[in-house]
Amino acid sequence: MIIIVFFRRKKEAIEVRRRIVLTKQITNSVITYAKSWHPNEGILILQGKKDKNVIRITGLIIPPFSTHGPYYSGFPVYELPFDLSYIGTVHSHPSRSNKPSLEDLNHFFGLVSLIICYPYEVEDIAAFDRNGNNIDLETE
Ligand SMILES: [Zn+2]
Repeated sequence: MIIIVFFRRKKEAIEVRRRIVLTKQITNSVITYAKSWHPNEGILILQGKKDKNVIRITGLIIPPFSTHGPYYSGFPVYELPFDLSYIGTVHSHPSRSNKPSLEDLNHFFGLVSLIICYPYEVEDIAAFDRNGNNIDLETE
């Protein structure tokens, strides 16, 4: 007689919140880039790694053929080489709101969208998922 026992691990009851980790260097680059495009929007592609609930940003890519306007910035996704390390974008808002616009959500790329608004300081950066929900942001 064969007895098969299934051990099932208890599902963790605590909801683990996703968070984004930015290095000081990445943060500074984003700030400098946003300031250089002001009063227009600037956009960059985020390179990073996802490990469980932590997304660590490891690099920034200037997208080819990007467009920059006071209310819009973007790039043609089909011009991008296929690269799994591309996990989202960061773009600037020359206004004082770092909330995603409808346009931003319609053009969502990857896992995460960072928005930095005027006056482009560390605390002006916010992170969102595809649905426009806030993701915790950490700078180290
Ligand atoms: Zn936007």
